[in-house]
Amino acid sequence: MFCQNCGAQMNAGDRTCKRCGAPVRQAANQYQNYAQPAEGYHREEHVSTGGWIGINFLMLIPIVNIILLIVWAFGGSRQRSLQTWARAKLILLLISILITVAVIVILIVTGVNVSDMMRNGRYY
Ligand SMILES: [Zn+2]
Repeated sequence: MFCQNCGAQMNAGDRTCKRCGAPVRQAANQYQNYAQPAEGYHREEHVSTGGWIGINFLMLIPIVNIILLIVWAFGGSRQRSLQTWARAKLILLLISILITVAVIVILIVTGVNVSDMMRNGRYY
């Protein structure tokens, strides 16, 4: 085999090149580098289809769903897909709250009273 840096011939067991000192990237090392991220993926837990169904049912419960979303989003969950999904849900929730607040503010500013609207509704 030859050095990948300077091309000098080397012994099979050498860890660094004798001429230039570059570290040897052997086929075995390459395999190790390849295997490590795959191992990392196994350590990460994935949410099963049944898990997602359960999560969606939990999301139907008011208040509990918001608490669960905060726990999943910031609780250091190992389930990254659940974590990112919970964060996206919280952002969407925040946007919908901001829109609701904005609509209420616009109604107040324009002098439209919600109770008036309800009362008017009786006379249709
Ligand atoms: Zn070399």
